[in-house]
Amino acid sequence: MTETQVNQTQQAGLANATSKATLYIVATPIGNLKDITYRAVEVLGAVDWIAAEDTRHTQRLLQALGVNKPLLSLHDHNEQARSQQLLEKLQAGESGALVSDAGTPLINDPGFHLVKLLRQQGVKVVPIPGPSAVITALCAAGLPTDRFSYEGFLPAKKQRRLQVLQTLKNDTRTLVFYESPHRLTESLQAMLEVFGGERQMVAAREMTKTYEQFVSGSVAEVVAYFESHADKVRGEFVLMVMGDVVAEAVCEDEHDALIGALLKQQLPVKQITDIVVELSGQKKKAVYNRVLALKEGSE
Ligand code: SAM
Repeated sequence: MTETQVNQTQQAGLANATSKATLYIVATPIGNLKDITYRAVEVLGAVDWIAAEDTRHTQRLLQALGVNKPLLSLHDHNEQARSQQLLEKLQAGESGALVSDAGTPLINDPGFHLVKLLRQQGVKVVPIPGPSAVITALCAAGLPTDRFSYEGFLPAKKQRRLQVLQTLKNDTRTLVFYESPHRLTESLQAMLEVFGGERQMVAAREMTKTYEQFVSGSVAEVVAYFESHADKVRGEFVLMVMGDVVAEAVCEDEHDALIGALLKQQLPVKQITDIVVELSGQKKKAVYNRVLALKEGSE
């Protein structure tokens, strides 16, 4: 196939953006309208209806995109009942799209019950990927991204919030939280209390918008920054906290001890690697290199 033919095929794919009896899960911008994807516009323009969290909000987006489609509301309070209606429409051969107010539906937004029901009933569900605050924040924060845990919003009640943070205290993955400006100070204080002041963190604010800002430093420094810049406690936030590197180091020491014991048994490097990978869940290449290094050191 020549490059021109590939392009033509891709364009044809876009022109026939939707199939019948299918629900498209369409991500929309988290601030900057230009972040909408070509495919999202195509799909929104081609489906029979669009289910939206807030129909007035989505109407404004559709107007800006030049799309005119019937809108149906689907929010936390009517999702169960509405899902049944949407299932019937899809089973009757209609195609639909699900959008939320911003970002990717289902990511701290409605849609889970609907998608679960459709999958149970064998209805096709197709993702149309695009913006989501969690990935947008992580990719520019400068914290490790090889492993992370998305935690959504912390609980509103103080005790519960502290309890949740306690369960995450020794997690070695980067932790990602969503937060509103009303609870920012309380959440940062709780992080200070549980994680301590030294841990590195990044607060990403108003991403893709005019006042986009990434505030990085230790938990104590980020807390102090927002205490002395009350005007910045505004807009939408993603809080990211570095994993517990001390716990990780302890794990590594334990692995070294295990590798040492297996080397003493004169097991082959490959077998030791497989055992340690199985027990630790670490990457095979990293474990293999560590086994080799310890073997060479012991010879
Ligand atoms: N579905 C969305 C997604 O894919 O990211 C998340 C919806 S959740 C109800 C809204 C929260 O996402 C906000 O309170 C904030 O924590 C985060 N968020 C959304 N847009 C943001 C932005 N532009 N900058 C920073 N955080 C944002």
